[in-house]
Amino acid sequence: MAVIEFHHVEKIYTGQTRAIQDFSLTINESEFMVLVGPSGCGKSTLMRMLAGLEQCSAGEIILDGQVVNDWTPQQRNVAMVFQNYALYPHMTVRGNLEFPLRMRKLSRREIDSRVGEAEELLGLTGLLERKPKQLSGGQRQRVAMGRALVRDPSVFLMDEPLSNLDARLRVQIRTEIGALQRRMQKTTLYVTHDQVEAMTLGDRVCVLNEGILQQVASPMELYQKPANIFVASFLGSPGMNLFSASCLDVGSDTSTFRLGLQSIKLHGQASYQENLAPAQSYVIGIRPEDLSLKGTDEDDRIHLRLIVESVESLGHEHLVYGNLLGYEASKISSEIENTLKPVTKTGRLTVRLPAHAQVSIGSEITLTARPEQVHLFALNGLRIGKHSDHHSVSMS
Ligand code: ADP
Repeated sequence: MAVIEFHHVEKIYTGQTRAIQDFSLTINESEFMVLVGPSGCGKSTLMRMLAGLEQCSAGEIILDGQVVNDWTPQQRNVAMVFQNYALYPHMTVRGNLEFPLRMRKLSRREIDSRVGEAEELLGLTGLLERKPKQLSGGQRQRVAMGRALVRDPSVFLMDEPLSNLDARLRVQIRTEIGALQRRMQKTTLYVTHDQVEAMTLGDRVCVLNEGILQQVASPMELYQKPANIFVASFLGSPGMNLFSASCLDVGSDTSTFRLGLQSIKLHGQASYQENLAPAQSYVIGIRPEDLSLKGTDEDDRIHLRLIVESVESLGHEHLVYGNLLGYEASKISSEIENTLKPVTKTGRLTVRLPAHAQVSIGSEITLTARPEQVHLFALNGLRIGKHSDHHSVSMS
């Protein structure tokens, strides 16, 4: 059992810019924390610093109240599972599982008991006398986890453990890892660039970009209340549609925005109003799944007109791509263009519609969304309105 704390941790590799900047995070006892972010954002660096394989340039790493910066990896008692599971090919599964225990000179009884436990927990029964090459990819991955588990570590670190597996196996092992962690109740830090793994596995998810923590929250909160444009565009597939918009009017209960030649009214968002100013530019975000074809009697919704450019039929749904009518007439401020890359310049958007929806290429359709499904961001990238997270930072 362990609580992990990062206090203002920094990492500067020799001759490099900062790989990790002022990173602070507490991972609670038994928590499954997922660290997610694009390639090169510093995930492995953080994990290696926690494991003791890399020194911090500044800040403290604290395990159960003790600063461990100067501790060796062995003293920290954290177990790592990597993507290349590095089993000893000449040893049987049993040999692989016993190896770390024999190194620690545990008694025969203790070794048998721990291997038996791992065998049961990981469903390795019947496989103990096989060599790694006689196992499937998934079974090998389980043995690798077993080898980490038998050491009875206080912390589990997993660095992209599924990335070498094919798609079907990845789903299966992902589910197994989730169930295993819940049974073991071990504090776990799991690193991935895969947003589906992050959303399905994490009790909480920590989003990292360019060495800077963006947001820490439950998967649902990240999805519903992304703290900034980076998080909004990183999580969700297809990604959130993001447009520049200018604020026309701020009323006591309603504010009006213009997207090109179209305007939308957002109301009932009391927390927005105090942060808005007329004539300022903002970024409006709407997820593809929050848009639907206009029916009747939907006056309380926002409406957007779109020219359909292409349609992909996925069987259970259509992905409709199109362009907002009149959006190209909007003047995108150079600030948006330079710093907020995910924001569309052309008014292109993606919509997920049910398979029975009738849309034809080249036609004009009207889409609606509930005002509360519209995300609003300031030009510094930060969400406008309430969100409970204090870890959010601006995009740089
Ligand atoms: P991720 O795991 O998210 O892909 P890394 O932690 O591996 O990211 O890398 C973060 C940044 O630090 C990258 O810019 C990478 O090039 C740099 N980096 C990683 N390891 C080293 C190293 N040993 N020496 C110098 N730079 C490194």
